Amino acid sequence: MIDQRSLERVATLTAPAAAFTQTTRINANGLLADRLGRPLHDLRISVTDRCNFRCSYCMPKEVFDKDYAYLPHGSLLSFEEITRVARLFAVHGVRKIRLTGGEPLLRKNLEVLIEQLAALRTVDGQPLDLTLTTNGSLLARKARALKAAGLNRVTVSLDGLDDAVFRRMNDVDFPVADVLAGIEAARAAGLGQDGKGGGLKVNMVVKRGTNEQEILPMVRHFKGTGIVLRFIEYMDVGATNGWRMDEVLPSAEVVQLIHAEHPLIQLDPTVAGETAERWGFADAAGRHDKTAGEIGVISSVTQAFCHDCNRARLSTEGKLYLCLFATQGHDLRSLIRTGSSDADIESAIGHIWQGRRDRYSELRSTMGPDTTTLAPGQRRVEMSYIGG
Ligand code: SAM
Ligand code: SF4
Ligand code: SF4
Repeated sequence: MIDQRSLERVATLTAPAAAFTQTTRINANGLLADRLGRPLHDLRISVTDRCNFRCSYCMPKEVFDKDYAYLPHGSLLSFEEITRVARLFAVHGVRKIRLTGGEPLLRKNLEVLIEQLAALRTVDGQPLDLTLTTNGSLLARKARALKAAGLNRVTVSLDGLDDAVFRRMNDVDFPVADVLAGIEAARAAGLGQDGKGGGLKVNMVVKRGTNEQEILPMVRHFKGTGIVLRFIEYMDVGATNGWRMDEVLPSAEVVQLIHAEHPLIQLDPTVAGETAERWGFADAAGRHDKTAGEIGVISSVTQAFCHDCNRARLSTEGKLYLCLFATQGHDLRSLIRTGSSDADIESAIGHIWQGRRDRYSELRSTMGPDTTTLAPGQRRVEMSYIGG
């Protein structure tokens, strides 16, 4: 099959590096802001475009088959390159880094990268909030080394507790028990207590007609464990998952379903730009029962949260994407590999962020569907390429 992505790569690599090297303007409050006034706070870094799962909503088997052209090793950013870029992002106010993929734990010696990132500091001299999203398949083996390297916490994706449903959804026949063992290992390694009130999270993508019957068993399983279970609306990311609106189960329905069995009360957001709406389990008096904990819902489809989206994404090969639904990235790797100075790269990042207008989820209903028939450079990037 044609590797659509490599065609896109050619299209974006042609942008001259010099075009980015303009002086950064900083707003009156001292913070970098985009065209809609949004600061740069989070950086998500994809460390591999490969995965050992084939979740149909992300890497359907028919597309990501044995002939699929993954990135060659030489085009991946090295750990040193990633750390350098991350340091320059921190200068612009980034406080949180999430490692993702593909499956990030497939990247060899990831602990070495974590050690390097853990040594970075925010503008006010604090360590960065360092986290990782994983399918959990390799977590049992790696949790202790990740923690020792300086990882603060981890988010594990798990779409159900029923083994048959889970095996079907990951589409590689991977057993649910191994992911649960990974979650336990993460907790035992201390990845559940980051000292800042954050901890272990479990993300479940809900697809109507596929796994909504798993919502209540998941709630019963994780309630009172200290693990925050979050439900994600099935999104139209990429161009290959055959997304249909009628397969989205709106978060409002998820909350209603849970509330009928486990009364909930809405909680305030912990930080600005938080993607999840928080709901606490209520006690008999209708107050938040902290021992029972909380759940979250991420309503990217039915309730856009673009207005305070402060996330940038760095692809495996060093392209900066300003939105999960972007079609084009900005090539930072060519700046790095043509010998640009820190000041030039920092300035380029600032300039790119200041030009940002992206708010795809707010505009979704006005846009046509994205399909594999669109021309290179017009298709949305795949989630496995820029990470979640
Ligand atoms: N492989 C890792 C994992 O699954 O956690 C990290 C990468 S994965 C792309 C990051 C997150 O994106 C996962 O929680 C996954 O469930 C979510 N995701 C992928 N495709 C999605 C889709 N179409 N809609 C909603 N969430 C999606
Ligand atoms: Fe792999 Fe994560 Fe995508 Fe599933 S969601 S295919 S585990 S990258
Ligand atoms: Fe941010 Fe784009 Fe998602 Fe809106 S659609 S919240 S801008 S990533």
